[in-house]
Amino acid sequence: MEIKEKIKDLAKQKKAVILAHNYQPPEIQDIADLCGDSLELSIQAAKTEAEVIVFCGVHFMAETASILSPDKTVLLPKPDAGCPMADMITPRALKKKLSELSPMPVVTYVNSPAAVKALTTICCTSANAVKVVESLEEDELLMAPDRNLARYTAARTDKKIHLWEGYCPFHDRLTPEQIQKARDAHPGAVFMAHPECRPEALQMADVIASTSGMIRHAKESKHTAFIVGTEVGLLYPLKKANPGKSFYPASPAMECTDMKKITLADVAESLEHLTGEVKVPEDIRAPALNAVERMIALR
Ligand code: SF4
Repeated sequence: MEIKEKIKDLAKQKKAVILAHNYQPPEIQDIADLCGDSLELSIQAAKTEAEVIVFCGVHFMAETASILSPDKTVLLPKPDAGCPMADMITPRALKKKLSELSPMPVVTYVNSPAAVKALTTICCTSANAVKVVESLEEDELLMAPDRNLARYTAARTDKKIHLWEGYCPFHDRLTPEQIQKARDAHPGAVFMAHPECRPEALQMADVIASTSGMIRHAKESKHTAFIVGTEVGLLYPLKKANPGKSFYPASPAMECTDMKKITLADVAESLEHLTGEVKVPEDIRAPALNAVERMIALR
């Protein structure tokens, strides 16, 4: 039997929903029931009748699904698919940093471990970071773990934001020279950049948006050519949603190794034997859920 059919059959048997993040390889996005950004996927999966969630993404995403769907079995088909940025913060390091600051709220990017979310006042995404920060009563806060998202937010609010020195290695590596090279190769193309990029890259952007925001913008725009300043996997859903428009990577080096780990064979294996389960323990899940729900309530 062809592997795609096998996955479909297994998903039916196990009452599973398959989720794929926008950065996953094309063949994974093609077999998924839902594609999108990590939080949106977890929210939608929680609303389904499925008993099993197969999350084709990285570890913190499967944790978020587990936080929102404690009664479902959440599977990460490649258990070692992690996120280098999420690994740049630990609960211990966060507690230490907080002990050095005056009391203040902590805003944590969803790209973080569940145990860090559990110590957090409120979570944020790249799309709602400014709104989340503005929703707080306090005028001073700590934002973690992405220093670039924190700088982007700080430039759009009067609040004082303390940074955590974390970053996404793939977004952080985009340089003004690479952007200029892409602009020279594709004159007139709209340059879209993700807030995880450095401030000097964002300064050159025509549009700053999350992955879902980029897909929406490209659809609604009258322009037909775009330079994409985010992980290269997004080119696939952009092209799929916009036949007739052209998309070029700002830099081919923006390829996340962990996002490319899961194969179709891994999905089939994980479904067949229910391997790769990610379950957030209740003592972490409850406070982490508070931080996530507080953000969702703002949407
Ligand atoms: S692209 Fe960056 S933020 Fe996203 S999973 Fe990879 S390392 Fe983490």
